[in-house]
Amino acid sequence: MDRTLAGQLLATLSQQEEEMVAFLRRLVLAESPSSTPEAQAQVLAIVQEALQELDYEVELVSGQTTGGHLVARPSYSPAAAPRQLLLGHCDTVWPLGALREMPFSVNGNVMKGPGVYDMKGGLAQMVFALRAIRALGLEPVVRPVVLVNSDEEIGSEESTPHIRQLAQEVERAFVLEPSLGPAGWLKTARKGVGRYQVVANGRAAHAGLDPEKGVSAVLELSYVIQKLFAMNDPARGVSVNVGIVEGGVRSNVVAPHGRAVVDVRVPTQEEARRVETAILGLRPELAGATLEVQGRMTRPPLERTPANQALWQMARRTGRLLGLELEEGAAGGGSDGNTTSLYTATLDGLGPVGDGAHAQHEFIYRDKMVERAALLALLVLAPPRGRAGDLLVSRPPESEAEAGDRQPGDVRRADQRGLGCRRDPSA
Ligand SMILES: [Zn+2]
Repeated sequence: MDRTLAGQLLATLSQQEEEMVAFLRRLVLAESPSSTPEAQAQVLAIVQEALQELDYEVELVSGQTTGGHLVARPSYSPAAAPRQLLLGHCDTVWPLGALREMPFSVNGNVMKGPGVYDMKGGLAQMVFALRAIRALGLEPVVRPVVLVNSDEEIGSEESTPHIRQLAQEVERAFVLEPSLGPAGWLKTARKGVGRYQVVANGRAAHAGLDPEKGVSAVLELSYVIQKLFAMNDPARGVSVNVGIVEGGVRSNVVAPHGRAVVDVRVPTQEEARRVETAILGLRPELAGATLEVQGRMTRPPLERTPANQALWQMARRTGRLLGLELEEGAAGGGSDGNTTSLYTATLDGLGPVGDGAHAQHEFIYRDKMVERAALLALLVLAPPRGRAGDLLVSRPPESEAEAGDRQPGDVRRADQRGLGCRRDPSA
């Protein structure tokens, strides 16, 4: 891994900048709200076609209640090669027709449109990073596996088992979610997210005639709400919010039912377990009242584990080859990186640089797309864990004739070190 290669990737990607913008435009024009499963086919097809052109085998997995997802692997992957996951989502929070209010636009260095930042820009960068690697006649030693789901913005319920499975098979995961703010920080921590519902049951009675025969679920719920808010612990990074409260039937009836909906954010698995135990362990204060508590942590926290930090340090060093001084930060919301981090080294926020996720002013910087695609390409080419040095690998021998524009030095360097990865005809 050296500056020459970084320069070659930057040059290749700069030449393809117009094409990258055109590709992003196609992705954005294919509107794809998570809540409209049938809208995902078009955007997934665009990614599928682009990856097939790069000689990837693409599998489209249909969803039950979502638009499904796509998994792609290089068609020449030897079975035993180490693998890495490139993870993105094609769904957005924007409803069909959002383009009328916020059309795709390029104004100087600023590009706008529904989902440019979160995270169609990231998909474009991923495709062009892989394209640049191929254009230079290189193959990553750690084989890329791409997963693009279409239910991330609604909690990834259907795709999570597939992500979990892949995460267990790879040695690292790069997540193409947007960077942290306009300075382009990478995301090395995300809080875990939990969602719970507490139902209080009491006994109805006439509030005027015989209130003492009733048990007020609303009063019981008021105790529950106070206990829940008391679980907030800013010093530990724990937040518990009762965001919805409802209950009762009429003002002159002792309320038989009440309900509270709770959002929980935690920085570590340990805090997740502690808070969950406390919530599931809530007990009623009033004689005759009962509580039913449901819910779970829907996304585990993305923690700064040693493996994740090692990957971040590698990205930081790699960024310097491109003249980038990268910073790390913690994001409040969860992503599918929270899931992969349970099983493999994960680095998030490698997507576009811009701002305004889920907001009307969502935008990305055009010139940063080139830079970030080059960064991703270098990371994808990085050696497997525990192996230092320059592990770039030549094209398979039968393809070498096509790769005439490759820098000859790259191939020789790889071959001399005996690290060449050849196509296994049986794989
Ligand atoms: Zn996202």
